Amino acid sequence: MDPFSLLHYLQNPIWVFDIDNKKILWANNKSLLLWEATSIEELLSRDLGQDMSAAAAATLSEYQQDFKLDKTIKTWWRFSPKKIAKNMLCLFSGIPLNDGRTAMLVEVVADESSLRRDLAFYDCSNLALLFSDDGKFISANDSFSSNYGKHLIDLSEFVGDINIAQQWIDNAKKNNPFKCNRLCWTGQRHYWFDIEAKWLCDSSQLLLQLVNVTKDKEKINKEKYNSEHDFLTGLMNRRGVSAALKASHHHLAHYSLLFLDLDGFKLVNDSYGHAVGDKLLRAVAIRLLNVVKDKGLVARFGGDEFIIQIETRNYISIANFSNQIIDTLNRPFHIKDIGELSISCSIGTSNYPNDANNFDQLVTQADMAMHCAKQRGRNCYYPFLQEMADALYRKMTLRHHLSQALENHDFELYYQPIINLENKQLKGFEALIRWHDESLGQVSPAEFIPLAEETGQIVPLGLWILHNACQQLAYWTQHYKQTFIISINLSRAQLQPNLANTIEQIINQYNVNPSQLALEITESAMLQDYSETKPCLDALAKMGIELYLDDFGTGYSSLSQLHDLPISTVKLDQSFVQGEHTSSKVIIEATKAICEKLNLRIVAEGVETQPQLDYITQCGFDYCQGYFFSKPMPVHELERKYFHKKTANITIPLLA
Ligand code: C2E
Ligand code: CA
Ligand code: CA
Repeated sequence: MDPFSLLHYLQNPIWVFDIDNKKILWANNKSLLLWEATSIEELLSRDLGQDMSAAAAATLSEYQQDFKLDKTIKTWWRFSPKKIAKNMLCLFSGIPLNDGRTAMLVEVVADESSLRRDLAFYDCSNLALLFSDDGKFISANDSFSSNYGKHLIDLSEFVGDINIAQQWIDNAKKNNPFKCNRLCWTGQRHYWFDIEAKWLCDSSQLLLQLVNVTKDKEKINKEKYNSEHDFLTGLMNRRGVSAALKASHHHLAHYSLLFLDLDGFKLVNDSYGHAVGDKLLRAVAIRLLNVVKDKGLVARFGGDEFIIQIETRNYISIANFSNQIIDTLNRPFHIKDIGELSISCSIGTSNYPNDANNFDQLVTQADMAMHCAKQRGRNCYYPFLQEMADALYRKMTLRHHLSQALENHDFELYYQPIINLENKQLKGFEALIRWHDESLGQVSPAEFIPLAEETGQIVPLGLWILHNACQQLAYWTQHYKQTFIISINLSRAQLQPNLANTIEQIINQYNVNPSQLALEITESAMLQDYSETKPCLDALAKMGIELYLDDFGTGYSSLSQLHDLPISTVKLDQSFVQGEHTSSKVIIEATKAICEKLNLRIVAEGVETQPQLDYITQCGFDYCQGYFFSKPMPVHELERKYFHKKTANITIPLLA
């Protein structure tokens, strides 16, 4: 009976190969064409060992060992019946023979002509090389010879290193088969191979089975290059410089990292277009490379940000080096069709390993320092200091706690009296927000208001303040029949076109008389986007709400600039009242004189002592506010101090 009869049912070309005798024992009809055979009998009579290279025979013997362990092998196999080269994707498996030996069952899964050309079958072909135990080349299989020729001399030439060649032999001899990926010399060219090495104990030979992965490798290398370089400037990008420094960190000498940001680059993009912006970035990259040369690395971090890494021994001082960079970029750039462009840059620096020992942290630190350089007027450098990280950490913590506080309304309004100096009566109170956080303690509004302005949280917070103060005013008016004014601080972000409507709704909701409400706005807030804020302020004044100009003297504006705005009262900043210098007095007197001319009332802020009070009284100020009378206080304290009896006017206890 035909022992392989069941195999007839398989669809593909299929045969059974006797590895020991290099003969085909059985084949189906489908394989005839493949083997260029006229009949099954003719095929079975062939001695396939004749044309088989030693390397191919060794590979098959190795397979035989694998089959005994029930392994199957899928590989491209090249053979040349009647000198016609064929390349097949085959499935090899073991099949037991009656005499106890294991033969090889070969099923052809696909041939190269049936597969799409771009499958790159050639790269997957199973290549085999055989070397003697002193590394001499013995044989290559058909696939190898036809693809790479017959130029190999020995293993050390193939792997490019005599020691590695010896290592491979020694290793394999110890019965340690191993795999690796290596760039090897085939005698004509270098290729990347995935290599599997085995020692053939019987013949004392080294068998290398190879797959050419050059194309993959080149593709990967190209992708790696692209992913690590900036397309525009050709410099390394963030990932590239990070990878380069991380890879060499263990043997890096001390170095500085510079974070460089061009000043006003957006302006270039906005006025000349992005194409000019790109040209400028390329020109900047070239100048930076010219300064750094081979002393460090230059990378484009994104946008108009660059990173420079330079070893400490390559500069005299970091200040000196940074200024050299700044000077270089300050020289005008000649851009075709545009002419000369001038730019400046701000640089922050950090040091490895003194500030941090990892790249990401160094970048964060240098970035922080760069922002300090920007704040200090730009076109300068600033080194990283630990305080910066602490301040940033504090800011982040505050920001987080602030959003929670906003949700929970963890705020309270304190009130500080404003005194009418003429009759020593109470004019009103300024509402000042207080925030007590469970873990951070009391946080000053001078710290968290600017933060809330930065994040936009000031808008909901400001709304809460308006509601709370108006509700309080309504309550006091109702219970104590008071007619004093409550002034509320407004931030710039609150001066939106719908502000008057919002306030009108709040006033109506609590039934507050608008003439009892004042809004304090700083001059910088009033003058920023003047065309937008002016209608907003006009609408508020029209409703009968008083507008106070807060912190006067701290900005750059003059009162005449402000006379178009519907302001009733100016609050002179406390720094002048408290200032010892004669110039403070000059400003106090001048402000008073101008206010008188413009028919504006004037409040002195921050009055802490009797002499200060005497002086501003003598100058003819209308109102004053400060610790000398009272610190800002919570509602219950204020009620206890001022509202114990229901009178129309309250006398200030301290002055009474
Ligand atoms: P500001 O509007 O100039 O408020 C006056 C600040 O001076 C208050 O500080 C007040 O407590 C303090 N002060 C009053 N009298 C004296 C004095 O005699 N000596 C000294 N050294 N200081 C005095 P506070 O409450 O810490 O507020 C700081 C700043 O935070 C305020 O300055 C204001 O710009 C902002 N702010 C406070 N509350 C609010 C608010 O409800 N909304 C908005 N948008 N900003 C607020
Ligand atoms: Ca104020
Ligand atoms: Ca003020």
